[in-house]
Amino acid sequence: MSVSEFDIIERFFHWPCLQRPEVRLSVGDDAAELALSAHERLVLQSTQYLEGVDFHREDSADSVAHRLLAKAASSLAACGAKPFSFTLALSMPAAASEDWLQAFSRGLENSARTMQLALIGGDTTRGPRAAVLHVHGTLPDHIAPTPRTGAAPGDLVYVTGQFGDAALALLHETGELQLIRADREAATRALRFPDVNLASGSAAAGIARCARAIDTSLMENLAGMLADSGCGATVQAHYVPLGPATRNNLERAGGWNLPWNGPAPGTLCFIVPAAEQARFERALQEAESECTWIGLVERSPGLRCYLEDGSAL
Ligand code: ADP
Ligand code: MG
Repeated sequence: MSVSEFDIIERFFHWPCLQRPEVRLSVGDDAAELALSAHERLVLQSTQYLEGVDFHREDSADSVAHRLLAKAASSLAACGAKPFSFTLALSMPAAASEDWLQAFSRGLENSARTMQLALIGGDTTRGPRAAVLHVHGTLPDHIAPTPRTGAAPGDLVYVTGQFGDAALALLHETGELQLIRADREAATRALRFPDVNLASGSAAAGIARCARAIDTSLMENLAGMLADSGCGATVQAHYVPLGPATRNNLERAGGWNLPWNGPAPGTLCFIVPAAEQARFERALQEAESECTWIGLVERSPGLRCYLEDGSAL
C-alpha cells in the first residue's frame, strides 16, 4: 500500500476513542481480532453501496456513510443481534477529493458513535466509488436469530420507528411539495441521517416469529414477508406512527400512502405470536423501544390496509 493510502487510513479511519471490549486487534494491524464471551455467537451482515446505484455523486458523503451504516446495522438488528463493530472496504477514483473523504469519514464516525460501533479495519483501493461494510454483532447462545419469514395466521404485526418523513423529504426535493423550515429539517434528517433503534431488534430476539428492516417501503417489505410466509394480513394503516413532519403535512402529501409506500430507513417490522404479545411489549419497553401494533396475520394471502373510516388504502 502506498504512503498516501496509509495517510488516508490514519487521517480518516482511525478513531481510537471508539473502542469496544470485544475488539482486540483493530485498524493498523494485519487483521482484526474479536473476542466474544463464552455464551455469545457472532452474527455478520454485509452491505454494499455503489455510486450511481445506491447513491449519487451529488449526494453529500456524510449522508452516504450514515445511510450505509444504518442500513447494515438495522439488518443485523432485525435478526436479533447486537451490533458492536464493522469493517469498511472503500474504493475511490484517484481524483476523489479530500473533501469527499473528510465528509464520508465524519458521517461514518458520527453514526458509529451514536450506535456505539467500533471500526476495526478494512481496505482502501482505487476504483469506481463504492463502499462495502461488514457489520458484526452478538447473539446469546441460547437464542436463535430472528428469521425473515415464518409468520402464521393469528400472529400480530408490529412496527418500530416513525414513518413518512423520509418520503416527505423526497417530495420536497423534487419540488412537488413545499415545507416550512422545521418540517423540512425533520424530513431531510429522516431521509439523509435516519435513526436506527438497534435495541428493538435484540429485545425481540427469541420472542418475535420473524422480522425485517424496512428497506424499500413498509407496504412492499411487509407484503414480501407475508408472501414468503405463505399468508396475508389485515392492517390498520392509520395505526402506523408518523414522523413529526408527516404529522403536520399528511393530507397535503397524499395521506396514508406516504408512510406506507415511501422509504422509511431505520424502521423495523416484527411478526409476533399472539401468545407472546405481553412478553414482546415488555421486552421492548425495557429496551426503551417504542413498538406499535398495526394488524393481524391471516391465512388468506395479500395485505389488506384499512383507514379509520373503513375504506381501503
Ligand atoms: P495493505 O494494503 O498494505 O495490506 P491494509 O489493507 O492491511 O494494508 O491496511 C492497513 C490497515 O488499515 C489494516 O489494519 C486495515 O484493516 C486498515 N484499513 C485499511 N483501509 C481501511 C478503511 N477504509 N477503514 C478502516 N480501516 C482500514
Ligand atoms: Mg489494503
